Amino acid sequence: MNNVTLVRKEPSESLFREDGLRLDGRGLDELRPIRMEVGVLNNADGSAYVEHGKNKIVAAVYGPRELHPKHLALPDKALVRCEYRMATFSVEERKSPAPGRREVELSKVIRESLEPAIFVYKYPRATIDVFVQILQADGGTRCASITAAALALADAGVPMRDLVVGCAVGKIEGKVAVDLSDVEDKLGEGDIPMALMPTKKVITLLQSDGDFTPEEFKQALEMGIAACEKIYEMQRDILIERYSKVREEVAEEQEEE
Ligand code: ADP
Repeated sequence: MNNVTLVRKEPSESLFREDGLRLDGRGLDELRPIRMEVGVLNNADGSAYVEHGKNKIVAAVYGPRELHPKHLALPDKALVRCEYRMATFSVEERKSPAPGRREVELSKVIRESLEPAIFVYKYPRATIDVFVQILQADGGTRCASITAAALALADAGVPMRDLVVGCAVGKIEGKVAVDLSDVEDKLGEGDIPMALMPTKKVITLLQSDGDFTPEEFKQALEMGIAACEKIYEMQRDILIERYSKVREEVAEEQEEE
Protein backbone atom coordinates (compact mmCIF):
# COMPACT_ATOMS: atom_id res chain seq x y z
CA MET A 1 0.00 0.00 0.00
CA ASN A 2 1.46 3.42 -0.83
CA ASN A 3 0.93 6.91 0.63
CA VAL A 4 -1.35 7.95 -2.19
CA THR A 5 -3.95 5.26 -1.59
CA LEU A 6 -3.88 6.07 2.11
CA VAL A 7 -4.59 9.77 1.63
CA ARG A 8 -6.94 9.62 -1.36
CA LYS A 9 -9.15 6.62 -1.85
CA GLU A 10 -10.56 7.63 -5.24
CA PRO A 11 -8.04 8.50 -7.95
CA SER A 12 -10.64 10.81 -9.50
CA GLU A 13 -11.00 12.83 -6.27
CA SER A 14 -9.79 16.46 -6.43
CA LEU A 15 -6.73 17.84 -4.66
CA PHE A 16 -9.01 20.72 -3.61
CA ARG A 17 -11.87 20.64 -1.12
CA GLU A 18 -15.33 21.96 -1.90
CA ASP A 19 -14.48 25.26 -0.19
CA GLY A 20 -11.59 25.75 -2.67
CA LEU A 21 -8.84 25.09 -0.12
CA ARG A 22 -6.25 22.34 -0.51
CA LEU A 23 -6.86 18.94 1.12
CA ASP A 24 -4.93 19.99 4.25
CA GLY A 25 -6.91 23.23 4.48
CA ARG A 26 -4.26 25.54 3.03
CA GLY A 27 -4.62 28.33 0.49
CA LEU A 28 -2.40 28.38 -2.61
CA ASP A 29 0.25 30.62 -1.03
CA GLU A 30 0.18 29.06 2.43
CA LEU A 31 3.08 27.12 3.94
CA ARG A 32 2.65 24.00 6.02
CA PRO A 33 3.26 24.49 9.77
CA ILE A 34 7.00 24.83 10.46
CA ARG A 35 8.94 24.32 13.71
CA MET A 36 12.67 24.79 14.18
CA GLU A 37 15.23 24.15 16.89
CA VAL A 38 19.00 24.66 16.92
CA GLY A 39 21.73 23.04 19.01
CA VAL A 40 19.98 19.67 19.27
CA LEU A 41 23.09 17.45 19.07
CA ASN A 42 25.95 17.77 21.56
CA ASN A 43 28.61 16.02 19.48
CA ALA A 44 28.23 18.15 16.37
CA ASP A 45 29.74 21.64 16.04
CA GLY A 46 26.32 22.84 14.93
CA SER A 47 22.94 21.21 14.54
CA ALA A 48 19.28 21.86 13.86
CA TYR A 49 15.94 20.07 13.85
CA VAL A 50 13.20 21.16 11.47
CA GLU A 51 9.62 20.02 11.17
CA HIS A 52 8.10 21.22 7.92
CA GLY A 53 4.59 19.83 7.67
CA LYS A 54 5.05 16.14 8.39
CA ASN A 55 8.73 16.22 7.36
CA LYS A 56 11.06 15.71 10.35
CA ILE A 57 14.70 16.47 9.66
CA VAL A 58 17.93 16.63 11.66
CA ALA A 59 21.00 18.41 10.31
CA ALA A 60 24.51 18.21 11.79
CA VAL A 61 27.60 20.21 10.83
CA TYR A 62 31.22 19.35 11.65
CA GLY A 63 33.95 21.84 10.85
CA PRO A 64 35.68 23.75 9.49
CA ARG A 65 38.11 20.93 10.35
CA GLU A 66 41.08 19.03 9.00
CA LEU A 67 40.24 17.04 5.90
CA HIS A 68 40.82 13.32 5.56
CA PRO A 69 41.88 11.95 3.11
CA LYS A 70 44.26 14.87 2.57
CA HIS A 71 44.52 14.44 -1.21
CA LEU A 72 40.94 15.76 -1.48
CA ALA A 73 42.01 19.11 0.01
CA LEU A 74 41.48 22.21 -2.12
CA PRO A 75 44.45 24.59 -2.03
CA ASP A 76 42.42 27.80 -1.96
CA LYS A 77 39.17 26.99 -0.15
CA ALA A 78 37.34 24.62 2.16
CA LEU A 79 35.74 21.52 0.70
CA VAL A 80 32.03 21.42 1.56
CA ARG A 81 30.68 17.86 1.75
CA CYS A 82 27.05 16.97 2.19
CA GLU A 83 25.32 13.70 2.96
CA TYR A 84 21.51 13.49 2.65
CA ARG A 85 19.98 10.25 3.90
CA MET A 86 16.46 9.03 4.49
CA ALA A 87 16.00 6.75 7.50
CA THR A 88 14.64 3.28 6.66
CA PHE A 89 11.51 4.17 8.67
CA SER A 90 11.02 7.65 7.15
CA VAL A 91 8.44 6.47 4.62
CA GLU A 92 5.61 3.96 4.79
CA GLU A 93 7.36 1.23 2.86
CA ARG A 94 10.78 0.45 4.39
CA LYS A 95 13.45 2.39 2.48
CA SER A 96 16.61 0.48 1.69
CA PRO A 97 19.48 1.67 3.95
CA ALA A 98 21.85 1.73 0.97
CA PRO A 99 22.24 5.26 -0.45
CA GLY A 100 20.28 5.34 -3.68
CA ARG A 101 20.70 7.50 -6.80
CA ARG A 102 18.15 9.99 -5.43
CA GLU A 103 20.10 10.46 -2.18
CA VAL A 104 23.33 11.04 -4.13
CA GLU A 105 21.58 13.66 -6.27
CA LEU A 106 19.96 15.38 -3.31
CA SER A 107 23.28 15.46 -1.40
CA LYS A 108 24.78 17.27 -4.40
CA VAL A 109 21.98 19.81 -4.84
CA ILE A 110 21.86 20.60 -1.12
CA ARG A 111 25.65 21.15 -1.07
CA GLU A 112 25.45 23.40 -4.15
CA SER A 113 22.61 25.39 -2.57
CA LEU A 114 24.57 26.04 0.63
CA GLU A 115 28.07 26.66 -0.68
CA PRO A 116 27.46 30.15 -2.18
CA ALA A 117 26.53 31.37 1.32
CA ILE A 118 29.70 30.07 3.02
CA PHE A 119 33.00 32.02 3.14
CA VAL A 120 34.87 28.94 1.90
CA TYR A 121 38.00 30.95 0.98
CA LYS A 122 38.67 31.59 4.69
CA TYR A 123 39.50 27.91 5.23
CA PRO A 124 41.84 26.56 2.54
CA ARG A 125 42.54 22.80 2.76
CA ALA A 126 39.84 22.30 5.44
CA THR A 127 36.46 20.62 5.22
CA ILE A 128 32.96 21.50 6.33
CA ASP A 129 30.80 18.38 6.61
CA VAL A 130 27.02 18.68 6.49
CA PHE A 131 24.85 15.67 7.35
CA VAL A 132 21.11 15.62 6.85
CA GLN A 133 18.95 12.79 8.12
CA ILE A 134 15.29 12.54 7.15
CA LEU A 135 13.40 10.94 10.04
CA GLN A 136 10.00 11.35 8.38
CA ALA A 137 9.35 12.35 4.76
CA ASP A 138 6.29 14.09 3.36
CA GLY A 139 7.34 15.86 0.14
CA GLY A 140 9.78 18.73 -0.18
CA THR A 141 12.52 17.15 1.92
CA ARG A 142 15.36 18.65 -0.15
CA CYS A 143 14.07 22.17 0.51
CA ALA A 144 13.43 21.63 4.22
CA SER A 145 16.90 20.01 4.44
CA ILE A 146 18.48 23.19 3.06
CA THR A 147 16.64 25.27 5.69
CA ALA A 148 17.83 22.88 8.43
CA ALA A 149 21.42 22.65 7.15
CA ALA A 150 21.77 26.44 6.94
CA LEU A 151 20.62 26.71 10.58
CA ALA A 152 23.15 24.02 11.59
CA LEU A 153 25.93 25.89 9.73
CA ALA A 154 25.03 29.10 11.56
CA ASP A 155 24.89 27.17 14.85
CA ALA A 156 28.40 25.82 14.14
CA GLY A 157 29.61 29.42 13.76
CA VAL A 158 30.62 28.91 10.13
CA PRO A 159 31.05 32.41 8.63
CA MET A 160 28.29 32.99 6.11
CA ARG A 161 27.20 35.76 3.75
CA ASP A 162 23.56 34.95 4.41
CA LEU A 163 21.31 32.14 5.56
CA VAL A 164 19.78 29.84 2.93
CA VAL A 165 16.11 28.86 2.82
CA GLY A 166 14.46 26.18 0.72
CA CYS A 167 10.87 25.90 -0.48
CA ALA A 168 9.17 24.22 -3.45
CA VAL A 169 6.39 25.66 -5.59
CA GLY A 170 4.27 23.38 -7.72
CA LYS A 171 1.24 23.13 -9.95
CA ILE A 172 -1.86 21.29 -8.85
CA GLU A 173 -4.90 21.04 -11.10
CA GLY A 174 -3.60 23.96 -13.16
CA LYS A 175 -3.02 26.22 -10.15
CA VAL A 176 0.37 27.37 -8.87
CA ALA A 177 0.72 26.50 -5.16
CA VAL A 178 3.57 26.78 -2.66
CA ASP A 179 5.07 24.02 -0.56
CA LEU A 180 3.52 20.85 -2.00
CA SER A 181 2.77 18.01 0.38
CA ASP A 182 3.70 14.45 -0.59
CA VAL A 183 0.28 13.70 -2.13
CA GLU A 184 0.28 17.01 -4.07
CA ASP A 185 3.84 16.33 -5.23
CA LYS A 186 2.90 12.87 -6.49
CA LEU A 187 -0.43 13.79 -8.13
CA GLY A 188 0.32 17.38 -9.17
CA GLU A 189 1.52 18.48 -12.60
CA GLY A 190 4.85 20.01 -11.61
CA ASP A 191 7.28 21.00 -8.91
CA ILE A 192 9.94 23.73 -8.73
CA PRO A 193 12.20 23.28 -5.69
CA MET A 194 14.16 26.45 -4.97
CA ALA A 195 16.58 27.87 -2.42
CA LEU A 196 17.20 31.52 -1.64
CA MET A 197 19.82 33.57 0.18
CA PRO A 198 17.13 35.86 1.55
CA THR A 199 18.95 39.09 2.36
CA LYS A 200 21.16 38.97 -0.76
CA LYS A 201 18.13 37.93 -2.86
CA VAL A 202 20.22 35.29 -4.64
CA ILE A 203 18.65 32.03 -5.81
CA THR A 204 21.04 29.14 -5.16
CA LEU A 205 18.80 26.27 -6.29
CA LEU A 206 16.23 26.14 -9.05
CA GLN A 207 15.04 22.80 -10.35
CA SER A 208 11.95 22.14 -12.37
CA ASP A 209 9.92 19.06 -12.99
CA GLY A 210 6.70 19.19 -15.05
CA ASP A 211 5.29 21.74 -17.47
CA PHE A 212 4.89 25.41 -16.60
CA THR A 213 3.96 28.23 -18.98
CA PRO A 214 6.24 31.33 -18.78
CA GLU A 215 3.48 33.12 -16.79
CA GLU A 216 3.09 30.21 -14.38
CA PHE A 217 6.88 30.01 -13.97
CA LYS A 218 7.08 33.74 -13.17
CA GLN A 219 4.22 33.40 -10.68
CA ALA A 220 5.89 30.33 -9.12
CA LEU A 221 9.16 32.24 -8.68
CA GLU A 222 7.41 35.17 -7.01
CA MET A 223 5.40 32.90 -4.70
CA GLY A 224 8.50 30.85 -3.89
CA ILE A 225 10.56 33.90 -2.97
CA ALA A 226 7.74 35.21 -0.73
CA ALA A 227 7.48 31.78 0.96
CA CYS A 228 11.27 31.61 1.49
CA GLU A 229 11.20 35.06 3.07
CA LYS A 230 8.58 33.86 5.58
CA ILE A 231 10.72 30.82 6.47
CA TYR A 232 13.79 33.08 6.79
CA GLU A 233 12.03 35.13 9.48
CA MET A 234 11.52 31.92 11.49
CA GLN A 235 15.18 30.95 11.00
CA ARG A 236 16.35 34.38 12.14
CA ASP A 237 14.04 34.38 15.18
CA ILE A 238 15.17 30.94 16.33
CA LEU A 239 18.86 31.89 16.03
CA ILE A 240 18.31 35.14 17.94
CA GLU A 241 16.39 33.25 20.66
CA ARG A 242 19.11 30.60 20.98
CA TYR A 243 21.99 33.06 21.09
CA SER A 244 20.37 35.49 23.48
CA LYS A 245 19.99 32.48 25.84
CA VAL A 246 23.68 31.57 25.33
CA ARG A 247 24.66 35.20 26.02
CA GLU A 248 22.61 35.17 29.27
CA GLU A 249 24.23 31.88 30.36
CA VAL A 250 27.74 33.24 29.66
CA ALA A 251 26.95 36.45 31.59
CA GLU A 252 25.68 34.39 34.57
CA GLU A 253 28.83 32.23 34.54
CA GLN A 254 31.01 35.33 34.43
CA GLU A 255 29.14 36.83 37.41
CA GLU A 256 29.65 33.62 39.41
CA GLU A 257 33.46 33.63 38.78
P1 ADP B 1 11.60 15.96 -2.18
O1 ADP B 1 11.49 15.27 -0.86
O2 ADP B 1 12.64 17.03 -2.19
O3 ADP B 1 10.25 16.46 -2.71
P2 ADP B 1 11.35 13.93 -4.23
O4 ADP B 1 10.51 14.77 -5.13
O5 ADP B 1 12.38 13.02 -4.84
O6 ADP B 1 12.14 14.87 -3.21
O7 ADP B 1 10.44 13.03 -3.28
C1 ADP B 1 9.14 13.43 -2.95
C2 ADP B 1 8.65 12.63 -1.77
O8 ADP B 1 8.51 11.27 -2.14
C3 ADP B 1 9.59 12.60 -0.57
O9 ADP B 1 9.55 13.76 0.22
C4 ADP B 1 9.04 11.39 0.14
O10 ADP B 1 7.89 11.72 0.91
C5 ADP B 1 8.65 10.46 -0.99
N1 ADP B 1 9.73 9.48 -1.22
C6 ADP B 1 10.97 9.69 -1.65
N2 ADP B 1 11.69 8.55 -1.71
C7 ADP B 1 10.86 7.58 -1.29
C8 ADP B 1 10.98 6.15 -1.11
N3 ADP B 1 12.11 5.51 -1.34
N4 ADP B 1 9.89 5.49 -0.67
C9 ADP B 1 8.73 6.12 -0.43
N5 ADP B 1 8.56 7.45 -0.55
C10 ADP B 1 9.58 8.17 -0.99
